[in-house]
Amino acid sequence: MTIHTGTEPESVTLDPAIDKDAIRARYAEERDKRIRPEGINQYHRLEGKFAELADDPWTPVQEREPVTDHVTFTFIGGGFSGLCAGAQLKKRGVDDVRIIDTAGGFGGVWYWNRYPGAMCDTKSVVYMPLLEETGYVPTELWAHGPEILEHAGRIGKHFGLYDNALFHTKVTNATWDETSSRWTVETNRGDRFTTQFLGIGLGPLSTAKLPGVPGIEDFAGQTMHTSRWNYSYTGGDALGAPMTGLADKRVGVIGTGATAIQLIPELAKYAEELFVFQRTPSSVAERGNGPLDEATLQILKEPGGQEKLLDSFTRNWDGFFGKPEPGVVVEDLVDDAWTSLGRRMRAQMHSVPLEQMSPETVMAAVGDLDLTLMEERRARIDSIVEDPTTAENLKPWYDLFCKRPGFHDDYLPAFNRPNVHLVDTAGQGVERITPTGVVVDGQEYPVDCLIYASGFEYGTGGSEIVNRAGFEVVGRGGIELSEAWADGMETLHGMHVHGYPNMFIIQLWQGSFLGANVTQSNNYAAENIAAIVEKVLAEGNDEVEVTKEAQDEWVEMLLRDGVPFGRPDCTPGYYNDDGHTEGRTFKLNVGDPRGSYSFVTMIQEWCRRGEFPELARRRTNSI
Ligand code: NDP
Repeated sequence: MTIHTGTEPESVTLDPAIDKDAIRARYAEERDKRIRPEGINQYHRLEGKFAELADDPWTPVQEREPVTDHVTFTFIGGGFSGLCAGAQLKKRGVDDVRIIDTAGGFGGVWYWNRYPGAMCDTKSVVYMPLLEETGYVPTELWAHGPEILEHAGRIGKHFGLYDNALFHTKVTNATWDETSSRWTVETNRGDRFTTQFLGIGLGPLSTAKLPGVPGIEDFAGQTMHTSRWNYSYTGGDALGAPMTGLADKRVGVIGTGATAIQLIPELAKYAEELFVFQRTPSSVAERGNGPLDEATLQILKEPGGQEKLLDSFTRNWDGFFGKPEPGVVVEDLVDDAWTSLGRRMRAQMHSVPLEQMSPETVMAAVGDLDLTLMEERRARIDSIVEDPTTAENLKPWYDLFCKRPGFHDDYLPAFNRPNVHLVDTAGQGVERITPTGVVVDGQEYPVDCLIYASGFEYGTGGSEIVNRAGFEVVGRGGIELSEAWADGMETLHGMHVHGYPNMFIIQLWQGSFLGANVTQSNNYAAENIAAIVEKVLAEGNDEVEVTKEAQDEWVEMLLRDGVPFGRPDCTPGYYNDDGHTEGRTFKLNVGDPRGSYSFVTMIQEWCRRGEFPELARRRTNSI
């Protein structure tokens, strides 16, 4: 493994042969033809006539009696946010933890997404949390889905989180009871129990969406969303057994995002014919997977080894904020696509001479790096894809971070197979779905099976988050969270909400915004929550609630200094709420403007001091 320092790689100077203006004009043109006035409303959820597509293919639902007891801590969401919260609470002696999930087990997004080829684009040694505690060493640089799912189960077992868990259970309501200083939680399984503390962490990828294409409900063949794979139809399994069921099938895939990039090479191997319906191409850089290298294995063996890697990850990723300062040496012990992009971004920002530094000169320098990176990706397509028309259609025309960057070694070569056909829709999306196939530009492509790699609701904020959760949280004075957030999410650190005592949220906005390593962000939040709960219990208090002043100050700072990740001039997608970035709600979908590393160090120091002056604690003697 190369150990990179703060001085490498060097910044780039844009190749003078590149016609910057022509490329930027092309970017704008491609964006404009994709903007749709209905924005996110162009999609359908897996509800109503599509409800069956949401059924759990993995675990049969078990009958059980309703639960009517009391627990100290309830966490809604059994993905890595709930697992980390449970683990950190147990470490601090809070044993009485209940995790609830609609899935039949732990794992969250990895429980549901078992499509062939599923893997994580962030290096396993930083993505898979609690390695040291569970004594596990990942097998690959970038782990595949089954290994990550197994690790979720390992955390659940190691910390005894299965004992009290409620799976296949959907919360219908959580209400704060001022007289008892407790939350009452109700579910679709008839449960009605109380909990002193409530945690919520539903993940950004829990509400699947289907394209709102005319005729979608008429298709008579096999249909699935990638988050609910049907191996009984395709054959094979998530571990990579051959999908023999597809040998005589014409398969269509709608979508070419991060999921499709992983899925398409697998489908290409087994489908008789594969039609890839593309609205916007992804950028796809190389990956280079393999077993863990010796240097990383050594670090993992040291006490605090994973923490050291995580620290290195955040410090390098923070290059997006131009940090650390020039001349400061930062080892990149992780060296994956995210840290390398962070490093390059930092080098580029620092390439502007100090006396010429201004927002404009820095943006221009970063723009040159972006153009260079995108030109590299477009050239990579030409070097791999043999058919010139297909190669041209696969080229992405937007800034790198307008869309989620992709990394895969087998995606582009899949288009050289004779059974794989790229159907480009010139930015318009598929026109219509018929009972027998998909129509693009007036031509029908008959298929036996239609796979929606059409993603998840992600970018919307405020009350939409509550809407996505599917249950209401009723706080002090009977105020519903969707009402409190009608004009955008308001929190302290993305975790605490005034008016909602003893409640903690784990999510990306308004906190570390470590989108490149969500589990790391989850675990920092979990450590923080556990430290606060331990403190409240040790003090003999019943309630903890962020003060209105502290929350307002944080929100004002976000509104003043925050820059939403999704830019209005970008091609539409979930980063920029499908091109609709106006309004306060979107403006509040930001991370700490000082950057991930600053946030993480600040929050860890806050925990270490353990005073939490922004959190009012009360003894109500109500129980
Ligand atoms: P995305 O939202 O990224 O992609 C959805 C795709 O569906 C896009 O290509 C979109 O096109 C296309 N689409 C939507 N409507 C239509 C239509 N009417 N006609 C044709 N195409 C259409 O979803 P993914 O599931 O791919 O990825 C979601 C997220 O999951 C990722 O961004 C990433 O954060 C996460 N992920 C993470 C992985 C990891 O490594 N950790 C791996 C895989 C996914 P358009 O772009 O034009 O909107």
